[in-house]
Amino acid sequence: MEIARHWRLKDQRYNLVGSCCPKCEKQYFPPREVCPACGGEIGTPFQFSGRGQVYSFTTIYEAPSGFDQDAPYTVALVQLEEGPLVTAQLTDLGEGKPEIGMPVEMVTRRLRTDGDERGMLIYGYKFRPLLAGTR
Ligand SMILES: [Zn+2]
Repeated sequence: MEIARHWRLKDQRYNLVGSCCPKCEKQYFPPREVCPACGGEIGTPFQFSGRGQVYSFTTIYEAPSGFDQDAPYTVALVQLEEGPLVTAQLTDLGEGKPEIGMPVEMVTRRLRTDGDERGMLIYGYKFRPLLAGTR
């Protein structure tokens, strides 16, 4: 049970695996077990493309402990191509400024340092601007 749970979380963190209702084909991220739209049971994992666009964003200047070395950073609500909204940090912005409607894609990055002694890094998804010509 624990191992299964671990892998499920890993899938969510690294691969944007959600779930898809077999009846009405609505897609969810994070995955749900019961479809709020039709009440049906969902057992089908669904792999999102990882592409979407910035729906809204905010810049964090006062970061919580563990995130402070990255401050200031930008957190965006990203609307995936498939529809669901996910919250994630934007990365690789360079000199550019985030904009609403900006196309982005998911990348796996270091999220934070968990505990100073062991220096364990937590990885997870972030979104970066979609490079021109890759679409
Ligand atoms: Zn449904």
